[in-house]
Amino acid sequence: MPSSLQFDIVATAGPARRARMHLPHAAVETPVFMPVGTQGTVKGIPQDALDELGVQILLGNTYHLYLRPGVETVRKMGGLHGFMSWERAILTDSGGFQVWSLSGMRQLNEDGVQFRSHLDGSLHSFTPESVMEAEIGLGADIIMAFDECTEYPAERERARQSMELTVRWAQRCKKYFEEHKHEVPWAPGSGLRASYEIENRKSKIENDSVPSIQRPVNDPIADYRLPITDYQSLFGIVQGGMHPDLRKECAQRLVELDLPGYAIGGLSVGEPRHLTREIVESTLEHLPKDKPRYLMGVGTPEEIVAYAGLGVDMMDCVLPTRAARHGLVFTSEGKVNIKNARYAQDEGPLDPNCGCKVCARYSRAYLRHLYATGEILGQVLNSVHNLAYYLDTMRQVRQSIELGEFRNSFPVSGLRI
Ligand SMILES: [Zn+2]
Repeated sequence: MPSSLQFDIVATAGPARRARMHLPHAAVETPVFMPVGTQGTVKGIPQDALDELGVQILLGNTYHLYLRPGVETVRKMGGLHGFMSWERAILTDSGGFQVWSLSGMRQLNEDGVQFRSHLDGSLHSFTPESVMEAEIGLGADIIMAFDECTEYPAERERARQSMELTVRWAQRCKKYFEEHKHEVPWAPGSGLRASYEIENRKSKIENDSVPSIQRPVNDPIADYRLPITDYQSLFGIVQGGMHPDLRKECAQRLVELDLPGYAIGGLSVGEPRHLTREIVESTLEHLPKDKPRYLMGVGTPEEIVAYAGLGVDMMDCVLPTRAARHGLVFTSEGKVNIKNARYAQDEGPLDPNCGCKVCARYSRAYLRHLYATGEILGQVLNSVHNLAYYLDTMRQVRQSIELGEFRNSFPVSGLRI
């Protein structure tokens, strides 16, 4: 039986790994930064610009997409790929973190979580099974198990109970997923793949002369698929609060489920940065070396570099786009707050060392003017640059691992976090 995810490590430098992760819609070079597309859009950036930036995989939020436009709408259009017209890879989170964030509007028990929508107060419930059903309908390449994000701070006993619930939920997720994974909208023969995508792949084949691939009999859709497997991959999420022994136990119990990849969740929830790093470092030791390891919701440019150095393969964060909308841009010379009056006459680019289209074309003075006048374009251009900066940082990380000298040669300064 074909695997849904193939993870080939091509180089290492200390604990850091440079790998190629083959997914149904794309081969992803890791370590990878995944921009966040909460509502089926990376805020402000059209999909063709994401293509051009070299985004290999992006994130969708199950909680938000479940509320609007609803899973069924997306599923009927071939899943998120068809709905948002995105051909490369997608990962959906489980909604666990968003529901957790609705404190005061949720109730949790063994079965799942009842919560009120942040939009209209309507009552909903997520269980491991219903979340799997939603994530299968959304059709991302990688889907996350439904977990309970443990609050910070949490006493040992509370963190243990929460961790054990996450393990039981992961077991239920896996069971439901195995029984229903063939229902993914782009599964061979489902007939649900959006006509858009079929046409798009046809023209892609014609234009790019992509080599023909093995095709199941009687499946015209399969003609246009990349040579990979048929289903999504379910990742488990390690919880355990800030207690290394609970993290270890959670990791070991999830590894028993033999999932294709594992995430470290429940961090960046208010704990000090040094603690985040300690927990990541100690948890990584207990995750399989031959499978992808995903650190959720991290971080600054310095942090993503440092975590890649520890052996994390995948990271996501809203920071580059959220900060950009507030006029904060990351550059090779440090952070730039573009709203600052000192840039009003500045003819230079945001970052003289950046090769992005924004830096090639626009001055700081113009970008400051756009911000000061509240023009949408300012937020868009800042976002494009910040994403380019993050993606380029990861490109440099990959190159340095290929050279086998990650820790000594990487040009970004201030790696300590
Ligand atoms: Zn730039």
